[in-house]
Amino acid sequence: MGRGFVYLVGAGPGDPGLLTLRARDVLARAEVVIHDNLVHPRVLDWAPDGAERIRMGKIGHLHGTPQAEINEALLSHARDGRVVVRLKGGDPAVFGRLGEEAGALAAAGVPFEIVPGVTAASGAAAYAGIPLTHRDHAPSVTLVTGHRRTDGGGGPDLDWEALARASGTLVVYMGIRHLAEVAERLVAAGRPGHTPVAVVRRATWPDQQVVTGTLAGIADRVHRAGLRAPAVVVVGAVVGLRSALAWFEQKPLLGRRVLVTRAAHQAEELCDLLRLRWADPVVLPVIALQPCGHASAVDAALRRLFAYDWVVFSSVNAVRFAFERLDGLGLDARTFGAARVCAVGPKTARALEARGIRPDVVPDRYVAESLVAALSSAAELRGASVLIPRARDAREVVPAELERRGARVEVLPIYENVKPATYPEEGLAALQAGDLDLVVLASGSAARNYADLCTAHGVDPARVPCAVIGPATRKAAEARGLPVAVMPDTYTLEAVVDAAEAYFRGRGRTPENG
Ligand code: SAH
Repeated sequence: MGRGFVYLVGAGPGDPGLLTLRARDVLARAEVVIHDNLVHPRVLDWAPDGAERIRMGKIGHLHGTPQAEINEALLSHARDGRVVVRLKGGDPAVFGRLGEEAGALAAAGVPFEIVPGVTAASGAAAYAGIPLTHRDHAPSVTLVTGHRRTDGGGGPDLDWEALARASGTLVVYMGIRHLAEVAERLVAAGRPGHTPVAVVRRATWPDQQVVTGTLAGIADRVHRAGLRAPAVVVVGAVVGLRSALAWFEQKPLLGRRVLVTRAAHQAEELCDLLRLRWADPVVLPVIALQPCGHASAVDAALRRLFAYDWVVFSSVNAVRFAFERLDGLGLDARTFGAARVCAVGPKTARALEARGIRPDVVPDRYVAESLVAALSSAAELRGASVLIPRARDAREVVPAELERRGARVEVLPIYENVKPATYPEEGLAALQAGDLDLVVLASGSAARNYADLCTAHGVDPARVPCAVIGPATRKAAEARGLPVAVMPDTYTLEAVVDAAEAYFRGRGRTPENG
């Protein structure tokens, strides 16, 4: 047997952010991923592109793949010498057939490890605002299954009297199908009919639903709400705390599909900011960046950076392309000599610092006008030589203002925005389907290219509200008839996301649930 190895890994209840770091690390090494139906697609993305992905698991109360077949698959891939990740919803040790799967591996002498996950009870408790234990209300929590061992049969065989006596919180997994029977039996065994109950469906997913009630009435309510699996049923006084602690369902960006139009290498940063607020970013770069300018002119200026009084960087991209070119010339940060360096904002400053340059000036606000003010208050501009490496089609405000104050300005276009040669399918599909809540535009050229892309695909751009990063982008967007709904006060991506959140707060969404 080669180096075959099996990781039995908990994928958590849904939200990919709830995966453990160890789970992500072992996924990154996977050659085969055998996963349940309940695993978020983003989690599967953490496996290498070349890894084989196999779906094998249970579907609701019906049999999916028989357990023996899953065990056999684990064994045979491991015997082929492959690194297998068996990815299971929630925690593999909680109603996860860990005993069967690890047992089969142990018996066959296949080495394995177990990586725990956030179980549905924990996920539901956290995202529904229900503490599972509480010093005043619940000294214990019990996890039970709502199914009989032979699945598909009747309700569970549980010691109802003991469960009723325990008086702590009860969490019923697979609890929807036999909910009425479970509730009745608990009441018959002595749990009061007015005991609070919450049924949490698709906990931690953007479409999480919560129905609350009492043991006496919950089955009816769940039936009327049309709630289906997967859901956990939480029984006990702690459920009453939800009215004060619910937080997740009200997130304004929750599940909102947001089109991210930034250049491919910059899209991820915005996606992360959006996902942090539970939005659902869709990437469709409408811009690609490429070096431009006569190589000889660019090279000549870069070779003698030290001869300028000021070098002004107005974007992270300007820093990136300048340094890539310097690198190509075999030069480095020392070429700046005693030239003073200005960065338009904190991100550009960080990009410079990462390359060993601490900017002398970083204006407070990230617009051309405040940059000029900051420069002139730092030093006499009359007669100063200023180099501005930047995008080809950038605005003329900065050079014009600097010249007005007596500076000798040399604008050096070192990169240009072009339309990408191709577009990702998922992004185009979302655009065409009109299946979007917001479009984020971070530059004038993004606004123009996005408008063109809509036209090219017969999409009416007026249908989807736009968030712009600042006034210049707003102007470009409005000139093309795009409906600008969001513009922040400070012109950063963080601020755009904040403003988008404010825009959606209180705006209509699907009917509230209990
Ligand atoms: N190992 C899993 C449980 C698997 S049994 C865990 O630890 O969570 C399948 C049951 O888990 C479902 O019927 C449902 O009761 C529960 N479940 C799994 N994911 C859930 C989710 N996101 N929301 C609510 N219940 C969930």
